[in-house]
Amino acid sequence: MNTDCLFCKILAGQIPANRVYEDELCIAFPDINPQAPTHLLIIPKEHLTSMAKALADHEPLLGHLMGTAADLARSNKLDKGYRVVVNTAEDGGQTVHHLHLHLLGGRQMKWPPG
Ligand code: AMP
Ligand code: ZN
Repeated sequence: MNTDCLFCKILAGQIPANRVYEDELCIAFPDINPQAPTHLLIIPKEHLTSMAKALADHEPLLGHLMGTAADLARSNKLDKGYRVVVNTAEDGGQTVHHLHLHLLGGRQMKWPPG
């Protein structure tokens, strides 16, 4: 746990979040400022600052997070498709420095993103 990290505080139960999914490696909860009808955040229980800090050892965890996103997309009936976003570091627009996947769905997405 990183005591300065918002998502570590959510993991510790110090900040409330509606855990719509939890397993031994990750949790998922709704984004507080949703950008689509479905907007979930999937975060590892391990504090990893960003994708830019991921090492070979993290590959099973990264795969698990992606698989969890796919499972949550199915359980949320995002049958027409969805988008998974991992904002990474400064140029990536990351604001919370604990790795997270955004699962966005329920509307037509645009490309390129801003
Ligand atoms: P990013 O900009 O990729 O780092 O995404 C961080 C996300 O965390 C943003 O979409 C925020 O709306 C979201 N967020 C910030 N605080 C909370 C919170 N307490 N509960 C749920 N989502 C949050
Ligand atoms: Zn953290």
